[in-house]
This record gives sequence, C-alpha cells and structure tokens, in this order.
Amino acid sequence: HDVAMRIAAGEVVERPVSVVKELLENALDADSRRISIFLSQGGKSSLVVEDDGRGIAFDDLPLALERHATSKLSSLEDMEAIATLGFRGEALPSLAAVSRFEIRSRSVDDARGGVLRVEGGQPLLHAPLDLPRGTRVQVDDLFFNLPARRKFLKSASAELRRILSLVQAYALAYADRAFLVQSEGRTVFLSPGDGDVAALLRSLWGDDPPLRHLDVSVESFHALGWWQPAPGRGKSDVTAFVNRRRVQEGLFRAALASPGGDISGQWLVFLETPLDEVDVNIHPAKTEVRFRKSGPVFEVLRRLAMAFLERPQS
Ligand code: ADP
Ligand code: MG
Repeated sequence: HDVAMRIAAGEVVERPVSVVKELLENALDADSRRISIFLSQGGKSSLVVEDDGRGIAFDDLPLALERHATSKLSSLEDMEAIATLGFRGEALPSLAAVSRFEIRSRSVDDARGGVLRVEGGQPLLHAPLDLPRGTRVQVDDLFFNLPARRKFLKSASAELRRILSLVQAYALAYADRAFLVQSEGRTVFLSPGDGDVAALLRSLWGDDPPLRHLDVSVESFHALGWWQPAPGRGKSDVTAFVNRRRVQEGLFRAALASPGGDISGQWLVFLETPLDEVDVNIHPAKTEVRFRKSGPVFEVLRRLAMAFLERPQS
C-alpha cells in the first residue's frame, strides 16, 4: 500500500512546482483573498502555502488526507461540469505520502483550528490549535522517501524559476487575489490583488513594445488575449488558461499560428467556455484538457490571432 501510494503520488507531484500548483488550486477553491508562498531551496527543502480561505474543520482534517476524499464533487453530474480547480482528492494524500507534511487550518465556522502532521504517509499528530481563519500547508523534504524522484529535481534556482512563472500566471488569472512569494525570507513576487491585469502584466513584461489586448467570441467560446509582439524573433511564449485553469499551450499555439502571420512575442490567453464543454479529467496533474467541440475552440483562438494581425494598434 505504501509503495502503491508513493507511485500514485509521483503522477500528481513531479517537482516542487507541482506541489505549489496543487496547493494554490486548493487555496483558490477555498475563496482565499490572499495567498502566500514561502520557499527554501526552491521548495526542495521546504515549501509553505498559506491562505485566508474557508479552512477545514478539525474533524475533517484527517479526511482531507484520505485518498479520493474530495469535498468538491458530490454527484456524477458534477463531473460533467467541473467548476473547481481540484476534484480528484489526490493532492494532499499524495504530498503527505512523499514528504514531511503538516497542515494547519481553521474553518470559518469554528472558534479553534487544528494541526495534523504526517511523515511519509504515517500520521504523527492531530491536535487542536488557535489559528487565524484559513489554511497553511507545509511540505518539507519533498521525495525524502523516493530517492529516484529526488535525484531528478533541478537546482534550487531552476525550481524557483518554475514556481515563480506558475505563480505569476495564476496571479494574472486571479488578479483579484493578492499573491506573495518569498524565497529564503526575501520577497521575490508580490501582486496587489486589485484586479488590474494590465498593470500586473506591465510590471512583469514591461511596456516596451507596448502590450496589446483584444477579445473575440465564437458561439459561447470567448478568448481574451494579451500580446507583446517581438517582430521577427520567430519565437512565441504562450501562457494558456481554460476557465482560469492553467493548461498546456500546444493547441493554443497551433491555433494562434494558423493564420500564418508573425506571432512572435509573449502571449497570455484566457479561453472561457461553458463548463460542460471541457473535460479536465484526463490526467492526475489536470494540465491537459479535452474539448467536446474542438472546432469553435480552434476557431476562436484563430480569430483572436487574426484580429491582432489585422489591427496592428489595438
Ligand atoms: P481536491 O482539491 O481534488 O478536492 P485535495 O487532496 O487537493 O483534493 O484536497 C482534499 C480536500 O481538502 C479538498 O477537497 C478540500 O475539502 C480540503 N482542502 C484542501 N486544501 C484546502 C484549503 N487550502 N482550504 C480549504 N480546504 C482545503
Ligand atoms: Mg486540490
């Protein structure tokens, strides 16, 4: 069981950035306004995600660490239109199986909170604790009991770069929430949570050449795009979101390139679709999505690129 759990955990968490992704998603699903991340050694030795969201009741803490125990889906119909970032109930048990893990939480409805500590899947402590509202998860010594996986981790600075790029992407998608990242006690990223995507994007990408912004709809599919052109560079970086979930950008890149113009530069694209048009339950990491109708999805992204290429000043 122990070994099976560790193998399964390997599908959900590959490296520190996947830990951050799962914990961020949980914080966002809990309607947090403020999410802080504290890292040591690029998350390899210690990684903390703290939020001010709904929290977890004391008695439910052990349940949150049980495999496939999600509070987010209650019926099969829910599976047809997944509205939360998490739904598989695998992240916390996976993390607890492959690290020294601690969760502290106080639910909105409770006067006191609690702490639960687990090491390599073995419960060590479950005790009440006075806490502010919200949740704090600490993952120390990731893969300490999975040396084969630990060997594949990159340098602390390389892991930190991946984490920063993920958090910055989520900070853009959730510009109404405040994000903080500290590494070895120093602030390396801060977003105000004032909802101003353009200002945040300018602070990350600069405004030279100026950022461009357009949106396009096809049926009930909407694409919102930000583009900072870099003419002639021959390379485009695409950050892709579907319904505010970060996804692999392959389809986006192909559709944006399909009109045949020069789409060099940085792209941030948010695709909004009806929830029942996408299936996110493809892989435990949830970064792949499948569309019920791929035609209008491709078309709306293609038209977004065309709109940019036809109107060079927007
Ligand atoms: P999932 O997100 O797929 O439901 P997880 O293993 O990530 O599964 O989390 C298990 C459960 O723990 C969640 O369904 C949720 O009820 C609770 N939980 C986890 N993190 C938080 C958080 N930051 N705030 C509130 N509840 C949380
Ligand atoms: Mg989750």
